Amino acid sequence: MIKEIKGRFTCTDCGYVYSSMLGDDEIPETCNKGKQRGVEIHENGRLVAVGGMKDFIIDNDMEGTDEAKAILSLEQGASTNVSTGQGWVQIRRNDDV
Ligand SMILES: [Zn+2]
Repeated sequence: MIKEIKGRFTCTDCGYVYSSMLGDDEIPETCNKGKQRGVEIHENGRLVAVGGMKDFIIDNDMEGTDEAKAILSLEQGASTNVSTGQGWVQIRRNDDV
């Protein structure tokens, strides 16, 4: 659900924050940002998995955490290191997975 939080339209499902440059009528009814984004998961420099960004965050119980925010704010092609139950992994955003 998209809610206005501190004056910014934010998706409560995926954490996506819509640009403050958008008018109220430009904010979609249903957010699809989380579904569109994909990630590659690298361990020790090797690609071990690909999947949806939101699925990864949910599967790793990261919703609402700093790790989730770091992943959600990745630009296409950028990466970040996050700690999961299995140790540290590198998450690279790739919407084409
Ligand atoms: Zn969303």
